Amino acid sequence: STALVWFRRDLRLADNPALAAARDAHEQVIPIYVHAPDEEAPWQPGAASRWWLHHSLVALHADLRRRGSGLHIAKGPSLQALREILEATRASAIYWNRLYEPAITARDRTIKQALLDDGVDARSFKATVLFEPWEVQTGQDQPYRVFTPFWRKARADLQVRPPLPVPDSVPTVALDGSLAVDDLDLLPRLDWDAGFYEAWVPGESGALDAFDRFLESAVTDYAKERDRPDRESTSRLSPHLHFGEISPMQIAWELDERARPEGQAARSTGAEKFLSEIGWREFSVHLLFHFPDMPEKNLNARFDEFRWGEDDPEAILRWKQGRTGIPMIDAGMRELWATGIMHNRVRMLVASFLTKNLRQHWRHGAAWFWDTLVDADLANNSQGWQWTAGCGVDAAPYFRIFNPVTQGEKFDPDGVYVRRWVPELADLPASLIHHPWTEPDCLEATGYPPPMVDLAESRQGALAAYQDLPKAG
Ligand code: FAD
Repeated sequence: STALVWFRRDLRLADNPALAAARDAHEQVIPIYVHAPDEEAPWQPGAASRWWLHHSLVALHADLRRRGSGLHIAKGPSLQALREILEATRASAIYWNRLYEPAITARDRTIKQALLDDGVDARSFKATVLFEPWEVQTGQDQPYRVFTPFWRKARADLQVRPPLPVPDSVPTVALDGSLAVDDLDLLPRLDWDAGFYEAWVPGESGALDAFDRFLESAVTDYAKERDRPDRESTSRLSPHLHFGEISPMQIAWELDERARPEGQAARSTGAEKFLSEIGWREFSVHLLFHFPDMPEKNLNARFDEFRWGEDDPEAILRWKQGRTGIPMIDAGMRELWATGIMHNRVRMLVASFLTKNLRQHWRHGAAWFWDTLVDADLANNSQGWQWTAGCGVDAAPYFRIFNPVTQGEKFDPDGVYVRRWVPELADLPASLIHHPWTEPDCLEATGYPPPMVDLAESRQGALAAYQDLPKAG
């Protein structure tokens, strides 16, 4: 018998429950990918995500070829494409791994029902998370709204299991009519992606190499160093996780195997902290599933009354282009443009600057990140923006307004990060690099702009707007 395996954002062969189950129960397996971005509207993948997807599909196809198969690529609508392939191959089953974004869950539910009605054995599996959104609940059977108790419960329930092995072979049946990855037109027409090739190796082996490097070097000091954008202190696994090139269970398992101090039962502090960041990813998935409006609406409805500034396209453009005159902000925005990624600490700074110092709505920032991040993820991005803007359920309080100068001095003390991304400032001494405007002559010689807003004044403006909010309750 023959089964289709419908790959989506699980672009890997290891620890892939749908693939493993199909391989166990059927003689032949047909791996397929259906390109149907409209079905994810209004959050179809942005430009940087499409770049990643292109290369990840190429890698998966090559990995499958080595196992006697290949990735059959079709264009949507998904249900129609799947039906056509099912009919052409007389396959009796289709397996896939679940995703949890609102548009995708609704689509998948419809597809599953339609295929079951056709008499096809349609099954879905848990693969992209440690916990499905409904598996972690409060004592009152409610979703969690606060991270700490969510993670305490999840952590206590977590049963780490060995990853499912990569199948040695994937016997398949010949099927004509596959598109090439190039036919999906995912790569940019203008050449803005040169830096991406230096920064990344999309695909399963790139993911495993990145994780390996992290386990060899940074995991031990992760708890202490993770806030340092000037060092290679984090895993850079986020795009690999988003596209499912590595599973969170593989991560949890390897942390237990390789990051546990000799002879001890408990994980090292670094490994435990790292696992709790994977926990934040789980929490975002949980929130988006239970609060599907999260990408558009304030989780904390009090903020519906907030006095945002007038939309200011020129200010937003300067922020996007890294021309605000605040070195940490510009370094972050330029890193994002050049590589498709930004360090977490700097994401918090640029988001705080946009939403508080410039008082622009967080949705403007979330939309820009959506298009430019290689790890753009609806759950994590919406959660990250709402958290920083102060309107999330478990958010930093609004009145916590990051000061990008003191944050720079603390987390980039020698200015290494700023020098890398704002080369005009490379020759300034560390004592000036985070506030070059305090020496106007030096600033003028660099050609770097003065700050577009006064940090102290704009902070007061934000606090005043916050004071006007109706009180909680
Ligand atoms: P590590 O520190 O090595 O962490 C390991 C993994 O844990 C990450 O790959 C990620 O999957 C998860 N993780 C870490 N921090 C967080 C967090 N705060 N929330 C949720 N998951 C986390 N992350 C995305 O994956 N996609 C996004 O679109 C995204 N948008 C963000 C927007 C804002 C405004 C903010 C403040 C944060 C956002 N994050 C997002 C979270 C975080 O910045 C990135 O996951 C992290 O910087 C990725 O780098 P890393 O893989 O080296 O992280």
